[in-house]
Amino acid sequence: MTTTSAAVATAPYDELAAALRGDLITPDDPHYDEARAVYNAMIDKHPAAIVQCRDAADVVACVRFARAHDLTLAVRGGAHNAAGLGVWEDALVIDLGLMRSATVDPANGTVRVDGGCTWGDVDHATVGFGMATPSGFIASTGVAGLTLGGGVGYLSRRFGLTIDNLLSADVVLADGSFVTASETSHSDLFWALRGGGGNFGVVTSFTFRCHAIGEGGTVIGGPVLYDFEDTASVMRWYRDLLPSLPEELSGWLGLIVIPPAPPFPEELWGRKACAIVWCYTGPHDRAEEVLEPVKSFGSPLVVGLQPMPFTMLQSAFDPLYPAGLQWYWRSDMFTEISDAAIEVHLKYGAQLPSGHSTMHLYPVDGAASRVPADATAFPYRGGGWAGVIVGVDPDPANALAISQWTRDYWSELHPTSVGGAYVNFLMDEGEDRVKAAYGDNYERLAQVKRRYDPDNTFHVNQNIRPAGSGA
Ligand SMILES: Cc1cc2nc3c(=O)[nH]c(=O)nc-3n(C[C@H](O)[C@H](O)[C@H](O)COP(=O)(O)OP(=O)(O)OC[C@H]3O[C@@H](n4cnc5c(N)ncnc54)[C@H](O)[C@@H]3O)c2cc1C
Repeated sequence: MTTTSAAVATAPYDELAAALRGDLITPDDPHYDEARAVYNAMIDKHPAAIVQCRDAADVVACVRFARAHDLTLAVRGGAHNAAGLGVWEDALVIDLGLMRSATVDPANGTVRVDGGCTWGDVDHATVGFGMATPSGFIASTGVAGLTLGGGVGYLSRRFGLTIDNLLSADVVLADGSFVTASETSHSDLFWALRGGGGNFGVVTSFTFRCHAIGEGGTVIGGPVLYDFEDTASVMRWYRDLLPSLPEELSGWLGLIVIPPAPPFPEELWGRKACAIVWCYTGPHDRAEEVLEPVKSFGSPLVVGLQPMPFTMLQSAFDPLYPAGLQWYWRSDMFTEISDAAIEVHLKYGAQLPSGHSTMHLYPVDGAASRVPADATAFPYRGGGWAGVIVGVDPDPANALAISQWTRDYWSELHPTSVGGAYVNFLMDEGEDRVKAAYGDNYERLAQVKRRYDPDNTFHVNQNIRPAGSGA
């Protein structure tokens, strides 16, 4: 379904506004520019209208209105998507950003989360009970988009991906009906929601399994920084060490410019470095023994490991990466960090084009790799890393330079990958890259799409076309 300009102009938005608890914002509203802005400032889309929903009934009203008036629908959770897929030109945007309640059931060890929550909202709710559910590496990311793509984070090695801990989801379907998907209800939809993105409906609420972590939610974490000159030896050591570590300990590797801010020592500000950010969630009386190998290797510039609430580690990078920067991404999955890959990392790490630009390798191993590749829509269960190269800078004048560096880096690194990316790290890269992201699971996703969204109503996403249609 595509929007015609006539449909956009003539749709009776006042009728929709009258049916809502939330607010409807059109281009003449003074808050329009604020409401259409997303995390990546390279994205500059002008929707026809934005509905800031208050509840599931508002979402139902929007879906039915869009269908009745032939409007393109976009769905916005945390607005973090690299490709800016939470907004779209001339679309009716269903914005869930006001629906941010997270309610813990401590007796059952679960948390029920509204579709507009960020991970900061959820961590706040669960860590208060000494628990967490696997999420990502930053607190400002939206729960909805991250979960629907898979969810790779500090707890993946120990407890699996975010989707591996999803118990059920409330969904508004393309026909405006409302269902709860779980292993026992709409199980085909539940399978597809776990990795298949926003293709199948609008999720208004998620319920996750939680796990006790650390000591009452206090973990031991933080960065260990090495001189950039040591990158090759650090990468070789890290790739060999990680599989041997207990799953209570995880660490992602990054090539970075040391941020010019505390807690980093001032004499290191602006220096290139190879960083590993560790998170240990086991009992603290074992911490000394478990962390010994990561503390004793090489000659680190900084060993920043310390006890902290999990919420603090999760939000440590949020101030460094506020909304409104220019972002350009490229990514792939890797089952190994080969010597050939290390050569490419050395070349492009030495050319990091700005203080915010970086390359990260996130482990997708341990518990995440024990789930069969066809058990959910997320296909990468063979162990390894989700790699992402991001050119980031506050200044739009540098957009070209950071994009070019990212593309060049990716082109040389891609042959060392498995050939596809984690779907949540894709930009607008075309249908072949979406198919590569799902591998053998794509065809089954297309079948589920045909059953639940045969007209491709939800197509502002990494789109899976309904089987047997050109929609
Ligand atoms: C700084 C940064 C750090 C990140 N870190 C991680 C990380 O550690 N681990 C990780 O796995 N990923 C990470 N990501 C990637 C992230 O998972 C994706 O960008 C994801 O799409 C963000 O979800 P969102 O809800 O914030 O985004 P949005 O832009 O709001 O939405 C993303 C997509 O999901 C759809 N969608 C949103 N809400 C709903 C809903 N309620 N129902 C149905 N569809 C919906 C949208 O239509 C869109 O297609 C990171 C991204 C950024 C920018």
